[in-house]
Amino acid sequence: MDAEIDGWLRGEGLVVTSSDRAALALRSAFHRRRRAEGLTAWVAPNILDWKTLARNAWEEQRPDDRLLLNSTQEEALWADVIRDQQHLTTALPGSVHRLAAMAVTAHELLCSYSPRHLRESARANWDRDPGTFSGWLTAFQQACTKSSLISPVCLALELIPLLETGKGQRPRILAAGFDRLTPLQSQLFDKWAPWQKLTPEEPADQVLFYEASDSQTELEACAKWCSQRAHANPHSRQLVITQDISLRRGEIERAFLQFAPPASAPLFEFSLGVPLKQTALARGAHSLLRWLDDALDEAELDWLLASGLSADQDESDELQSYMRALRQRGLQRAQWSLQAFLGPAPVLPKLPVSWVQRMLIAQRILREIARSAISPLEWADKIPQLLNAMGWPGQQSRSSAEFQAQRRWQHALDTAASLGFDGRRVHWNEFLSILDRTLQQILFAPQSLDAPIQIAGPAESAGLAADDIWFLGADEESWPAVGSMHPLLPTHVQREAAMPHTTPLRDWEFSSAVTKRLVNSASLIHFSFARQKEGVETRPSRLITNIPTAPQPLAAELIPTPVKPPITVPFTDSTRVPFRHESIQGGSSVLTSQSQCPFKAFATARLGAKDWDPAEVGLSAIQRGQILHSVLHSIWAGPPEGLRSHRDLITTSDRPYLVRRHVQKILQEEIPNAIRESMPRRYLVLEEERLVHVITEWLDFEAERIPFSVAETEAKHPVSLAGVTFNLRIDRVDRLNDGSLLVIDYKTGNVSPKTWELPRPDDVQLPLYAGFGLKEKLGGFVFAKVRTGEHAFAGKVEDARATLLPQLQSSTSLVQEALTAEQLRDWKQYIEQLARDFVAGRADVDPREYPETCERCGLQAVCRIQEPENQHWLESESEAFDEEREDE
Ligand code: SF4
Repeated sequence: MDAEIDGWLRGEGLVVTSSDRAALALRSAFHRRRRAEGLTAWVAPNILDWKTLARNAWEEQRPDDRLLLNSTQEEALWADVIRDQQHLTTALPGSVHRLAAMAVTAHELLCSYSPRHLRESARANWDRDPGTFSGWLTAFQQACTKSSLISPVCLALELIPLLETGKGQRPRILAAGFDRLTPLQSQLFDKWAPWQKLTPEEPADQVLFYEASDSQTELEACAKWCSQRAHANPHSRQLVITQDISLRRGEIERAFLQFAPPASAPLFEFSLGVPLKQTALARGAHSLLRWLDDALDEAELDWLLASGLSADQDESDELQSYMRALRQRGLQRAQWSLQAFLGPAPVLPKLPVSWVQRMLIAQRILREIARSAISPLEWADKIPQLLNAMGWPGQQSRSSAEFQAQRRWQHALDTAASLGFDGRRVHWNEFLSILDRTLQQILFAPQSLDAPIQIAGPAESAGLAADDIWFLGADEESWPAVGSMHPLLPTHVQREAAMPHTTPLRDWEFSSAVTKRLVNSASLIHFSFARQKEGVETRPSRLITNIPTAPQPLAAELIPTPVKPPITVPFTDSTRVPFRHESIQGGSSVLTSQSQCPFKAFATARLGAKDWDPAEVGLSAIQRGQILHSVLHSIWAGPPEGLRSHRDLITTSDRPYLVRRHVQKILQEEIPNAIRESMPRRYLVLEEERLVHVITEWLDFEAERIPFSVAETEAKHPVSLAGVTFNLRIDRVDRLNDGSLLVIDYKTGNVSPKTWELPRPDDVQLPLYAGFGLKEKLGGFVFAKVRTGEHAFAGKVEDARATLLPQLQSSTSLVQEALTAEQLRDWKQYIEQLARDFVAGRADVDPREYPETCERCGLQAVCRIQEPENQHWLESESEAFDEEREDE
């Protein structure tokens, strides 16, 4: 194949490829061969992709002065046409642009396969969606004629008659990497000059077909084999083909990085780029611009402030501390406008002054220019000024790929500006939407460094050359790849014109041609598939078994080792750093954490580590629970406004009225300002109704109790354990009819006393309070489940029927599993040991029950429990735990 291309180019022929990436790959291979021949200079090869060929030839022959649209301009024109049709489904801007993108591909299919349907009369009988598209197409053609425009998909079509009459010698064409030639391409090549298709004819010396146990093993085996080949012969080229490349990009990258030596030339490259919006520079620039006049989600803002794209290192640190301080004071918001963020907040540390000034300057500049709609060209001119004012792209040193992304950003800006081609004027938000779509459409791939391993999808692999090929995912479900017909074109038109995906046979034939091309493109080719995909058994692709080669198990040396050898040497760290203070914040939660996982207690209580719950638009479950606690605290706070005993409760004639008064007072005091500002009034009214309902129901339930009085609510009690004072706080303590005390913890979720069970409780708050926080006789401790329709007590009481609820059935656990002195003693001993462990500095990563305990913890990034080398012992621990439970 290489010799044929070189010979063709030497004979002054032209090589045309199906895609720009294939053209790039052929050019790189050409230069590599010249270097290998020892040359230092040579003539650039005449290799073009198909679209560039059509555009250059049309520009050369240019029959008139129509403006050639770029793809952004073309899509915008379609969007205008669709909007003008005022179809109901096109009411939302997002759907208009999705339809416009579909219309572009439908138009391109007609040009390539069935140009006679570009005439309106040929579409007279199209109805339903194709009928609607037909109307758009007529309007699009009229708009192009009226404004002297031409769509890029029409270039080849217009070029054909020009070639018939045109004069001059044209180079012969060698068409490379065309798995499927459209009728339009064949016709153009026919009119151009003598041409022929490059068809690799030399079958591979060896074709192997492997089956792996799962997709991960398949991928790692491929990565291992390709890396070994590349290391053994640095001049060899490997091509990896995978179908779901955009979905598995991260996974693929991780698999190959395992074998890439640190700080060496890149081992692998993807042939296809990622949307520019996914690069940090472009994402950050767009978010900063949007923030000037719109709110950003908290997670996006958090990323932006940490990225350093508008701040130097000191400012970035201060901004992140500020975000943490906001959270610690419960001032988080689901969305932050710049105004709200810069507004007065009683939080220390303060925002960095110079950063605040830059943001205010940028906002002022925007306000001055955003008073009216202006051309996209003018907006694009202002963007660098705005970004510069905000300090973008920060002061960190940039890699070569980041500099390239910055240049690509400028290209995106120019593309968005090009929408001013028809004199349209847009507002700021509209321009930002245009820019956003442009950033999603423009792909970014760092300049090829000619890495020995290229990773591509089956379609992009056309024209790529390699010594060895590995084709991943050759299972029956995925290969041949199936697609669907275009929804905007009539089925019979697509079938008659033999467009892609019109019959299963056509998909089969196309994938079969790709398979044949691959088999003839390298001396050694591996196909592989995973026997299990997402828990479902798969079978090998019949296209591959037809070659013929039967799948065989992966060679032993290719099977990845079950656990990656750790980079660091593991050892048991028996050192402990004792806790030297006399008291600690956090109360009972410290000892609960110590019981769940010693490292969790160490990280939260001593290092201040905290999980980051995303802010919610309305009240979060935690905020709702806090408000309910406050209302109950207010109600049981005693006269004159509240109650203090069972007698007070049953003599209150209008309980809903009493509850409503307390609910309104607490909502007034405790609803965060951010929620009051952002939520409609009706939301707070509904919240009030919900609280009145659930708390009145709860009081009705408590009215059925044996008489009691409330000894204290939300009372704090310091308790000294192992020389450290823990400040305990409990929701309520009641005095029962026998004079003993009942400890109550309100819960709105579904909780169970099983969480206190020894040998390793999941929660020790109530046993701790009951065991150490009371000076008088204990009658029991319970969860009070305040849940609509499910109000109940659950816990341990010495004699529940005599002191709590007379109507309890003897089968209930409150009656059957009464509190005993032995249980209380065992809990106390366990808790004292927990306190001693904490004070001694016991901090091993030892979750009580993996993975459940960790799923509720959120400190995985700190303890690194999820790293592969930790999974091995976790599995054995988990099995041991299961066995233990079975024995019990
Ligand atoms: S994530 Fe699991 S192992 Fe890590 S600290 Fe939390 S409970 Fe312990």
